[in-house]
Amino acid sequence: MPEITRFAPSPTGYLHLGHAHSALFAARAAGSGGRFILRIEDIDRTRCKPEFTAAIFEDLAWLGLTWEQPVRKQSKHFYQYRAALDSLRGRGLLYPCFCTRAKIRAEIARAGAAPHGPEGPIYPGTCRNMNEGERTWRFAAGKPYALRLDVARATAATGPLEWRDRVRGTQRAAPGRFGDVVLARKETPASYHLCVTLDDALQGVTLVTRGEDLFEATHIHRLLQALLDLPVPDYHHHGLIRDDAGKRLAKREQAPTIRSLREAGKTPKGVRKMAGFE
Ligand code: GLU
Repeated sequence: MPEITRFAPSPTGYLHLGHAHSALFAARAAGSGGRFILRIEDIDRTRCKPEFTAAIFEDLAWLGLTWEQPVRKQSKHFYQYRAALDSLRGRGLLYPCFCTRAKIRAEIARAGAAPHGPEGPIYPGTCRNMNEGERTWRFAAGKPYALRLDVARATAATGPLEWRDRVRGTQRAAPGRFGDVVLARKETPASYHLCVTLDDALQGVTLVTRGEDLFEATHIHRLLQALLDLPVPDYHHHGLIRDDAGKRLAKREQAPTIRSLREAGKTPKGVRKMAGFE
């Protein structure tokens, strides 16, 4: 069956070889009969820059990729994410969390130890059972808050869930590993987990391809699909490309950017090869 795939970078820097691998992987998975979508995940207004979005288009075109127009930019769709949040909140599945990061650290230190999830220590649930009077007082005082998903309540509502990874096979969803994830913050009113799940559904993506570093996140995405009544795509979490010493290439490790390779005289074919595509 022809697939609809996507590459969904965040414009927080220049694309590197790992991104090239991911983009080429998604385009190849769509093949000539399918559709390949590019999506710009620019909800984090402090880290995303328009010049990096322009560079993404330029670098991918230089690599020889083509994609459908128009390109969805998440920053233009906050109203859609808000509607999904309202629906979850209306069903009592979200709660406001007034904790600062420092407060959470202190809570965890006081408890002695906190179980760790894929994104670090699990939120200890401080604000989950706050009484209504206290909440009302804090809202009235204009205290900033995040919205967290009550994962235990949400999984009780959906019952057991599964999803399919093309490499590792059928997975039983285990969203509890993350604890009560944040779905919106004051400065970023919709989170990665919410936006990516909603957009993959809205854009009709049938096969989500992305690096295996995001494998665990799919457990949360599967839960959100069930809560928001969204279709469930297949997943293919691909291996991450590594340098000669076996170290993962990521931005923070100074992976060569596509443009630095281009400026050094590499050809698109040469860079595709470095990214694992002959
Ligand atoms: N925007 C995410 C990133 O750049 C990738 C999202 C995804 O593929 O699910 O890391």
